Amino acid sequence: MRTSWLAGALLLLPSVAAAEQKAAAPGAEAPPVVLGWHSESISAGRPGTMLQIIPPVAEQVIAAPGGPPTIVFMNKGGVTLTPGTNDARTNRSTIVGQTSTIPPFEGSAAEWSAIMQCVRTIFAPYNMTITDVDPGNVPHFESVMGGRAQQAGMEQGVLGVSPFTTNCSLIPNSIVFTFTQSTRDAYGTTAGLPEELCEIAAQEIAHSFGLDHEYLASDPMTYLNFNGLKTFQNVDAQCGEYSPRTCGLPGTGIVCSQRQNSVTMLTQRIGVGDTLAPSVSITSPSNGAVVPTAFTVATTASDNIAVSKVELYVDGVLVDTKTAAPYSFELSGLATGGHSIQAKASDGANATETTINVTVQAGAPPPNPNPVPDEDPDSENPDTDGDGNSDTITGGCQT
Ligand SMILES: [Zn+2]
Repeated sequence: MRTSWLAGALLLLPSVAAAEQKAAAPGAEAPPVVLGWHSESISAGRPGTMLQIIPPVAEQVIAAPGGPPTIVFMNKGGVTLTPGTNDARTNRSTIVGQTSTIPPFEGSAAEWSAIMQCVRTIFAPYNMTITDVDPGNVPHFESVMGGRAQQAGMEQGVLGVSPFTTNCSLIPNSIVFTFTQSTRDAYGTTAGLPEELCEIAAQEIAHSFGLDHEYLASDPMTYLNFNGLKTFQNVDAQCGEYSPRTCGLPGTGIVCSQRQNSVTMLTQRIGVGDTLAPSVSITSPSNGAVVPTAFTVATTASDNIAVSKVELYVDGVLVDTKTAAPYSFELSGLATGGHSIQAKASDGANATETTINVTVQAGAPPPNPNPVPDEDPDSENPDTDGDGNSDTITGGCQT
């Protein structure tokens, strides 16, 4: 039987209720306002995730095209949180009713690597940087990955939790939780556990962007089983856990929308990622040139948004990096004989490289610094579709 949101609101945890009644000490932040909790799966007797209902947050962020990416900090190192308005920079959270410590991620380095890769895959289409290095005092979201629900003052069986506003709005600098040890307790240490943890984390992160549960098995916002990795679907889906409903707070009269499209909402709130790789070419020397022991390597690079750096490699070893044009590199002291010269341009999300071979010969004339442009400067990465970008992308997040 489905528990209504009003009934869910009665499930206030004692610790939270106590925090709300307690007057703030002088100088301390006022206790966070919590309207209630919502969980379908716990009331149905199975492990699942919860939503903590909070009032709308005034400060809203509208993603600007080409603007800075939204940062999500995947915290595997443990954290001590104090009650307060959600802020990943100060470790304050509405979720905890008292100072609470979540221990570090208990799993292996290989599991962690798989989780990071999976979360990056799910959010790859969006303008988001997902890191496991604490960004410090800059705006960011935080996904705490560790411990058990009880360590955050929640009942056993909760695998993940996020705050969620009554108007389905974004919660800047929100802290969400995936209780990795609770999930391991529930499912066991299996090959599929990193994907399970990744999908829970993706759902909790997206809750803080204002996404409700979807009655669509292939989307990370679902409670339903799906065979394969859940990814955000460009589908106008019904909301709901184990049965369809409107999106928002059913039972309270509050409806955010009739249906929800995960891709549309994420695109509006965090923007699309950069999927076009930069182009790069070595304009001098030419491929196969005979050069003296000291010479200049001239390269050009461009990107639909911005080139963040051009790196120069000699025989596979990084020798210099330029972060602004002109991307010219002075080389000297190379041994006589053949060498490979590689230029690699990055836009921060994607990278493209090109390689030439030269022969160093003492006393050879220096290469022409302004040769006639090569008709096909980047034969390794041809631009067959004529969009000005190489079709072959090295690295980055093209899927
Ligand atoms: Zn959820």
